[in-house]
Amino acid sequence: MPKGKVTFEEALCKGCELCVHACPKKILKLDGQRVNANGYKVAIIFDPEECIACGLCAMFCPDTVITVERLSQ
Ligand code: SF4
Ligand code: SF4
Repeated sequence: MPKGKVTFEEALCKGCELCVHACPKKILKLDGQRVNANGYKVAIIFDPEECIACGLCAMFCPDTVITVERLSQ
């Protein structure tokens, strides 16, 4: 399985959770501890080792918050 690295442009996140539901590995969630400058909870990856670089989270995000890099095949 390929490995992926996911990064978030948190300032743009609206906490809609579409990425959370799109991820087949179920490794994304909203951070319950903090909000961004616009007052939204932000999406985070809590188990980055499990990312398979499928890109679905980035595809589903309506606000182009997420970047997925493929680290290996
Ligand atoms: S790239 Fe795929 S596996 Fe990795 S966090 Fe996004 S949806 Fe989940
Ligand atoms: S889909 Fe985009 S805007 Fe919605 S919670 Fe995920 S990163 Fe934030």
